[in-house]
Amino acid sequence: MITTDVPFLDLRAINAELEDELTQATARVVQSGHYVLGPEVAAFEAAWASFAGARHCVGVGSGLDALALALDAAGVGPGDEVIVPAHTFVATWLAVTRTGAAAVGADVDPGTGLLDPAAVAAAVTSRTRAIVPVHLYGQTADMDALLALADRHGLVVVDDAAQAHGARHRGRPVGALATATAWSFYPGKNLGALGDGGAVTTDDDALAARLRMLRNYGSREKYVHPIAGTNSRLDELQAAILATKLGHLDTFNARRRTLAHRYREHLGALALDVAPWGTHAWHLFVVRHPDRDALQRHLAERGIQTLVHYPIPPHRQGAYAGHPGRFPAADALAREVLSLPMGPHLRPDDVEQVIGAVLEFESPEARPGDTRVLR
Ligand SMILES: *Cc1c(COP(=O)(O)O)cnc(C)c1O
Repeated sequence: MITTDVPFLDLRAINAELEDELTQATARVVQSGHYVLGPEVAAFEAAWASFAGARHCVGVGSGLDALALALDAAGVGPGDEVIVPAHTFVATWLAVTRTGAAAVGADVDPGTGLLDPAAVAAAVTSRTRAIVPVHLYGQTADMDALLALADRHGLVVVDDAAQAHGARHRGRPVGALATATAWSFYPGKNLGALGDGGAVTTDDDALAARLRMLRNYGSREKYVHPIAGTNSRLDELQAAILATKLGHLDTFNARRRTLAHRYREHLGALALDVAPWGTHAWHLFVVRHPDRDALQRHLAERGIQTLVHYPIPPHRQGAYAGHPGRFPAADALAREVLSLPMGPHLRPDDVEQVIGAVLEFESPEARPGDTRVLR
């Protein structure tokens, strides 16, 4: 029997550390009598806008909704093309599809796994309306090149920051680098709710006003609907939880950074590249290996839980059957990436155990606990 000694992410430990504060926040909502679009959502929106360096934050129901509503609010719709990375979680593509626009894949940089600006430039057509870069695994995409390209072609840029809470780009927080930034507060993210949640941050006053209507049936005033919106609201309970956890985000991200540096000291040769322009939020610590599945089995046999983000790229999903174009870098990443245990409650001893087990796979004569360096 295989037992798990080192879990991939210990969500229970995160919430256990904050249990008293979270229980108080929950009780406050229970007693308040406000459950949708009340004071907790307003307070969290203000706090998250401030953290993300943006003028506005609009809380919505999920990260997928944040992406789709931001694109919609920016005027993207049927007949448009939106360029998305070929290596990402499928939600990035699904959000585009939901607006009625066509998702157009572009390949990624093989070193970082981030959207390749040259591939984006090659994918631009007269119908291109927007680009959705993804700050994958916690590090920012090549925003300087992408924003310059968008400027030249008059394109909207909505960045997918679902994995990048607390990341920075040339010292600036992610949140107002582009037209709008979409966030997810799915429980496993660096800032996670106890259920689904999302938000859009932006410096654009008109876009924010439109988003506030879109998330609430296209209404600003009760029973008056100038536009056809939807129901996608961050709820009071999740907002109260998120505001509480936000107070610990920097501390938790610092713990992730320490662990990532330890991994990189020993497994640098297998790790994905760190781009020079950003401050990584280390949502995931990802290595690449030509024999990925065997490495994953080797770690599992030693009680180490790992995951693959992501094994099937969007363009190879049934949902996008027949999608044109070749994306060799994305295809290779899907075959080779492996996410090692990472999170604010992973113990340094556990990281040593993972490092030892990976080194043992690389050269079977090595013993667990061996601290040689792979380069
Ligand atoms: C999690 C995630 C999403 C979707 O967020 P949900 O809140 O689960 O809808 C979108 N993009 C990326 C890159 C993600 O990791």
